[in-house]
Amino acid sequence: MLAPEPANVPEKLFYALFSLQHRGQEGAGVCFEEGGRLVVEKNSGMVSQVLSRFLREEHRSTIGIGHVRYSTAGGSSAINAQPLLVRCNKGEIALAHNGNISNSESLRAELSAAGAIFQTSSDSELILHMISRAKAESPVDILKEVLPRLEGAYSLLMIWNGTLYAIRDPKGFRPLYAGLSMGARYAASETCALTLLGVDDPREVEPGEILEFGAGGFESHRFAPRGRMAKCVFELIYFARPDSGVFGVPVHEMRKRFGAALAESDDVAADLVVPVPDSGSSAAIGYAARAGIPFDLGLTRNHYAGRSFIMPTTAQRELVVKMKLQATPGTVEGKRVVLIDDSLVRGTTSKILVRLLKEAGAREVHLRLCSPEIHSPCFYGIDIPTKAELISNKMSPAAIAEFIGADSVRFLDISLLKRCLVDPEDYCYACFSGEYPCPLRAEG
Ligand code: AMP
Repeated sequence: MLAPEPANVPEKLFYALFSLQHRGQEGAGVCFEEGGRLVVEKNSGMVSQVLSRFLREEHRSTIGIGHVRYSTAGGSSAINAQPLLVRCNKGEIALAHNGNISNSESLRAELSAAGAIFQTSSDSELILHMISRAKAESPVDILKEVLPRLEGAYSLLMIWNGTLYAIRDPKGFRPLYAGLSMGARYAASETCALTLLGVDDPREVEPGEILEFGAGGFESHRFAPRGRMAKCVFELIYFARPDSGVFGVPVHEMRKRFGAALAESDDVAADLVVPVPDSGSSAAIGYAARAGIPFDLGLTRNHYAGRSFIMPTTAQRELVVKMKLQATPGTVEGKRVVLIDDSLVRGTTSKILVRLLKEAGAREVHLRLCSPEIHSPCFYGIDIPTKAELISNKMSPAAIAEFIGADSVRFLDISLLKRCLVDPEDYCYACFSGEYPCPLRAEG
């Protein structure tokens, strides 16, 4: 955020981060200018745990950035919480990074050999080391020198000697938006955060663009030519909030389209379409409408339980699924149910849900997934486990059905998924296809 005159910047950052909580629940932090210097507050935990004092306190500031952490590289300890703040030969720099640098191992080895001392195990710190070693002098020239050496996914916010920059990698893996409200300028991963702050007409930071925030507006610099993009299709399937736009696409509407495409390719006889809330809700609406089958909330969600996927062990994940979702009494009794979720990863969630629905009297449960089978880990910022843990690498849909106790299992075909998108060649499908848009140095 860049405010035209002193305002309670950390309070605004709290609101924005709170609406992006779904993008990371392991750590939260803000960095803002106060009294002429940058201060950082960050820790492991949720936004409301780490940053709630900013709702009670009055701070006067004009610039700040924030971050929620979801570790895909470098672990979840507090030391890896962001923003990172350094004072180096290029000045005072604060950095918040969304994504995953896929050539981080070779860059880290090169920097270590040259004597770099790392404070964190996250890939984001590499960017700061590379900046301090750059030959160019102005921030934009330094960024143009450094960023082309990075591979993979990075949407970045930086405060550099008092100027705010928003940067998106050339392939545009992760979303990033910027906009204006009441004279203040904002940037955030998803439009839901900007809407909350009163931004009416957010614009995408383009792949390969450095957006410099100034009092008079945004100044755009390119550090890479326009080329083939690799926008993460999983943002549309699962990760982003349904009331957001990402990649210029309204997420809820796109999920309904995925659901409708799945229904078109399906011929199951059923009485009821039930979503796994919230991840399957939008797609289930689209499926039910296209299939002409009634929709109902056969599962009720407790919204105070966190994302189950994020717990480290299977036993913990199972318990959290039950804390989070229960069958709604009476709704599914005697019914042939189509259960819709966005994706199947390890199969833990659906195994429990099928059991809950059958215990609640469902006659049949047919699981439908609004994404293709996941076969490969992600090296660009989505936490997908190793190949060995992915259920679709171990079993066919029929075997999965047997394993989870469902009457049938069906996935959205990748060609149908692509048909839903406006510019399908500009997306990354690596988790489904194993074809990675950036060279890989390590396999999970
Ligand atoms: P699983 O129980 O392992 O099959 O996980 C599938 C559930 O986790 C689905 O309901 C998804 O909504 C959710 N999910 C899928 N991918 C991810 C991810 N990368 N991070 C967190 N949750 C995920």
